[in-house]
Amino acid sequence: MKSRKLLMIPGPIEFEPDVLQAMAVPTTSHVAPNFIDVFGNALDMMKEVWKSTSGQPFIVAGSGTLAMDMAASNLIEKGDSALVISTGYFGARFKDILETYGAETTVLSAPIGEVVPLDIIEETLKEGSYKLLTFTHVDTSTGVMVAPEAICKLAQKYGVLTILDGVCSVAGEEILQEKWGVDVVLTGSQKAIGVPPGLALLVASQKALEVWKNRKTPVGNYYASWNNWLPIMIAYQEERPSYFGTPPVNLILALEKSLGIICDEGIGGRVQRHKRLARAFRAAITSLNLSILPTEDVIAAHTLTAVYYPENIDGALLRAHMVADDVIVAGGLLSEIKTTYFRVGHMGSVSSNDLLAVLGALERALQSQNYPFEMGVSLRTFQDSLI
Ligand code: PMP
Repeated sequence: MKSRKLLMIPGPIEFEPDVLQAMAVPTTSHVAPNFIDVFGNALDMMKEVWKSTSGQPFIVAGSGTLAMDMAASNLIEKGDSALVISTGYFGARFKDILETYGAETTVLSAPIGEVVPLDIIEETLKEGSYKLLTFTHVDTSTGVMVAPEAICKLAQKYGVLTILDGVCSVAGEEILQEKWGVDVVLTGSQKAIGVPPGLALLVASQKALEVWKNRKTPVGNYYASWNNWLPIMIAYQEERPSYFGTPPVNLILALEKSLGIICDEGIGGRVQRHKRLARAFRAAITSLNLSILPTEDVIAAHTLTAVYYPENIDGALLRAHMVADDVIVAGGLLSEIKTTYFRVGHMGSVSSNDLLAVLGALERALQSQNYPFEMGVSLRTFQDSLI
């Protein structure tokens, strides 16, 4: 047969057939009435998924990094102080982006597999005078999840704007943007949002927009500037034609379909499904005597799991064996430990069937390298955990 491999990396993920079919249609004009409706619906549904009634959604062609760039370029002016709370690879990226626009950054980096303690964040906020802070909700390089609410509370106490990198969390982990007072929540389309790569998505609070409107200097980026995109988003929300840069029409058709699926499932139920599957998967991994990167269960993400290879196992060979068995998982990403671990994505429309397939392929790959374990133990543990 086929090239029907199961893509279980932390993005891009397996997409719903209905979402893919929504794209496979003749491209209309970006100002055709039906497309204006679709774009407006997608913007409305983003507010439902982000849990923000007053925020301003943006949909722009680009990847998650563009959404980071958009947040940084519109909010930072040369010389502003920014605090980066880093739990891995993507914290370091935010530092680079912020510095591109002239920010003076302070980075609080957690040891690998850990989070930065709240008292350290508070001490740092007390000592400095920060305009904004960024944090990675789920760092895809480590599978570590931070608790946004407590960080946002601290930021509000010290009058600091918050930017949540939700590329690996939006529509998979709990996010209550308005209740928590997060100023920007950003993501890309290819992860738990469930749409092929190519869309940068973010919702900005009214406070963030005020800060942007009151800038003393022009935005140092042309394509990402809200000067260009805000009128376009408002026009689509008000069902009026408008143009700045041609939107990726077919991807936005897919986005509207996927957001509809997410809203039909209900974001609360969707988050619970991610939690239930992630917990069972971690239990199954542990039953094989494998260790996961996050040092504590409460900071382990529900959208992916990062797992250390056991000693004396060739990681590249293990993954190649799984690919030959039609299951694709990802290698490591964090440069310090890149070759010592692998990552399994379980987000979006993931089901227990997908994870049973991963565990089956993993067991066969481990067995091929004579790793000592009882065949079937992870499958049984996974099943037991789901009951
Ligand atoms: N932040 C996080 C947490 C991510 O996982 C990623 C992508 N893996 C990015 C930012 C960057 O997104 P993209 O690759 O879509 O530019």
